[in-house]
Amino acid sequence: RQELYRELRNKPSVTTDGVRVDLLINAGLSVDLPQLAESGAVGIGLFRTELQFMVASAFPRAEVQEKLYRDVLEAARGKPVTFRSIDIGGDKVLPYFKDAAQEENPALGWRAIRLTLDRPGLLRTQIRALLKACGGRELKLMLPMVTELGEIAQAREIIDREVRHLSRFAHHLPTSLKLGAMLEVPSLLFQLDELMQAVDFVSVGSNDLFQFVMAVDRGNTRLSDRFDPLSTPFLRVLKTIADAGSRNRTPVTLCGELAGKPISAMALIGLGYRSISMSAASIGPVKAMLTELPLAELEAFFEDNLDAPVQGLPMRALLQGFADDR
Ligand code: PEP
Ligand code: MG
Repeated sequence: RQELYRELRNKPSVTTDGVRVDLLINAGLSVDLPQLAESGAVGIGLFRTELQFMVASAFPRAEVQEKLYRDVLEAARGKPVTFRSIDIGGDKVLPYFKDAAQEENPALGWRAIRLTLDRPGLLRTQIRALLKACGGRELKLMLPMVTELGEIAQAREIIDREVRHLSRFAHHLPTSLKLGAMLEVPSLLFQLDELMQAVDFVSVGSNDLFQFVMAVDRGNTRLSDRFDPLSTPFLRVLKTIADAGSRNRTPVTLCGELAGKPISAMALIGLGYRSISMSAASIGPVKAMLTELPLAELEAFFEDNLDAPVQGLPMRALLQGFADDR
């Protein structure tokens, strides 16, 4: 298998009927960077900037943040990188961050974009570091745990202010800035067209989205086998998002664990996803599946099965059957 994955590394990432699907990796520390070249992925779809904060003993200074972002871009050698603004709170605690009190429901609490909009100094410092590190190239930035579109507007104001500030001091700025939102809170599902219009791209955080749609703690092992992301209701959610992206011509990608398992990656591609981001170790297995996938047949499978009333064999079994028959 390893041999096969190595062989596939430089092969185009297309289905048997010639549809290209971009496979990207999730990363977060400098040690992850060599994996980009080793895996043959086309870029970094999720760079978790909070990891630098989690391994530090105090808030990393602006220069230290900027250095990491420069290293990331250098290692990427021109491949696209999507940085995510710090996603702390919830399951990601910083022992030195005294303002974050114990919470009754941390997953639903003061975290991610909620926290950084309340502590704009944190966000401003990070954005300045990113703008400087991305001088002369494109900056792709996405915001975690967006719940309302107003949060995007607020973040954009902070970004615009930093751009103005840096240009006043004749800094080398990014050639363009693409701002995206992570879709991990169900409220966004009911304002999809507005969301798609408000951003340059959307990235589905399926770990959190599944947790919130199914009301199931993502870290609770008692529940981890009980509900299936490859069940009809959740697949319909994922399809609704992909359709809204196409309708609005807004690129949609998915960067949760779901993208890393061949059977679920297959489902995502069948639902319309053309860009998925996963841990580097998954690139080989997913690419092996993808290059053998007759996509038109899978699309026909979903047309027959996804809108059908939920009954009979579970969707996972049907999908497994589809894969086994090919
Ligand atoms: C997700 O929620 O799916 C995601 C990619 O972000 P994280 O796992 O870092 O919360
Ligand atoms: Mg998340």
